[in-house]
Amino acid sequence: MSHTIFDRLEIPHTLAAGPGPGNTDPRVLSQFATAGVADHMQPDVLRGMIECKQMLRSVMGTKNIHTFGVAGTGWSGLDAMMSAVMPGDSVVAFVNGTFSGIDGLTLRMKAATAEELAENPSNPTAASVTVIEVPHGESVGAEVIEAALAKHSPQWAFMAHYETGSGRINDVAAFSASCEKHGAMGLVDAVSSLGIDDFAIDDYPGVAAWASCPQKGICCLPLTYAPVSFTDQYINVLKARGARTFVHHPIMEARHWGIVDGEDVEKGSYHRTHSSYAVAAFHEALRLTLTETLAVRAQRYTFHEAAVRGAVEMMGCTVTSNMTSLVVLNLPEALAGREMELVQLCRSRGFGIWPTLSEPVQVRIGILNQLDIDAITDIVTRFANAIEELGGDVDLPAVKQFLEQHYQIEAAVA
Ligand SMILES: *Cc1c(COP(=O)(O)O)cnc(C)c1O
Repeated sequence: MSHTIFDRLEIPHTLAAGPGPGNTDPRVLSQFATAGVADHMQPDVLRGMIECKQMLRSVMGTKNIHTFGVAGTGWSGLDAMMSAVMPGDSVVAFVNGTFSGIDGLTLRMKAATAEELAENPSNPTAASVTVIEVPHGESVGAEVIEAALAKHSPQWAFMAHYETGSGRINDVAAFSASCEKHGAMGLVDAVSSLGIDDFAIDDYPGVAAWASCPQKGICCLPLTYAPVSFTDQYINVLKARGARTFVHHPIMEARHWGIVDGEDVEKGSYHRTHSSYAVAAFHEALRLTLTETLAVRAQRYTFHEAAVRGAVEMMGCTVTSNMTSLVVLNLPEALAGREMELVQLCRSRGFGIWPTLSEPVQVRIGILNQLDIDAITDIVTRFANAIEELGGDVDLPAVKQFLEQHYQIEAAVA
């Protein structure tokens, strides 16, 4: 048998200007690369996890004791968040883009009966799950939420806070209020909002569980932790009924973070082998978030998103998103239909923007951790150049003048 040994893998540095992952802060990478090798029960690793847990409660704005990180990506945290959903449970899921669509699929997989799952294993229909489709480009709003929860009074209700597929912010306050009113336990995908918007999850008592990710607002890509938080009500359901998972079982997973029998204990106990590198990186990312404060960071996202939005509108694009970390747009009419071509051109130059992943085809430009005038000007210029290369018309000097004026406002405020 012959074996091929490939060349050492080289990955170039690109400008990651999509919906995520974002540019990881060098201080986080440095912690990742310089942490010592220590096993998962070494005292400083365990202490680091306990400190992360406490900082995460501040970042999420919660007193929930079951607040910790699930090793992996956003979907890992979401899988843990949905672990209490059992076959036959009644669920209402609001879907307005790619990601809430996949969340809806996860819920159908979990709530499907054995027969329903066998009928269509990779895309089951579950009689107990109602999926409310809200058109791409629109937010999930109070009326739709209230009508569906009043009609179905489900055990569980689901919504994405920021739907990254279409770039829309959904009404989490209305969702929480309707969940409370109709006795549903709310589940929220906060993958794209945590660390970007300034909010405290305890202000939304109708939501029983939240899940986020390491790679977006938390700026901690080196595969670390997906933040999750569960109310006591959620944990009580788990205690009464269990969950069909070991690794993503919120009560079991919490033990390693020093949460046992609903209380903080001094030292975690083994659940799985955590990495000293990941703990050190996550710890630093949380420190950076809290040092900057959520309020300041949220303001900066709003300010810099307005710069990109204004610039692409000057190029004749139409923006259909309202997220503060992402601009989702239609190209000028003359270039309509050439979105993929434009995205591929940009990506071939190390400028990593994205198309939408579900219909309609649009262009997505993200600004995760790109919050200064140089980075934004670079993004805008590269995008303008690509439009010109496709034959579009851009008045780049005017666009640059607009950016300069925009950033004078910042200088005046600062
Ligand atoms: C990015 C994203 C996910 C998936 O996160 P991964 O880190 O890729 O697992 C899920 N939901 C939303 C809203 C997202 O933006």
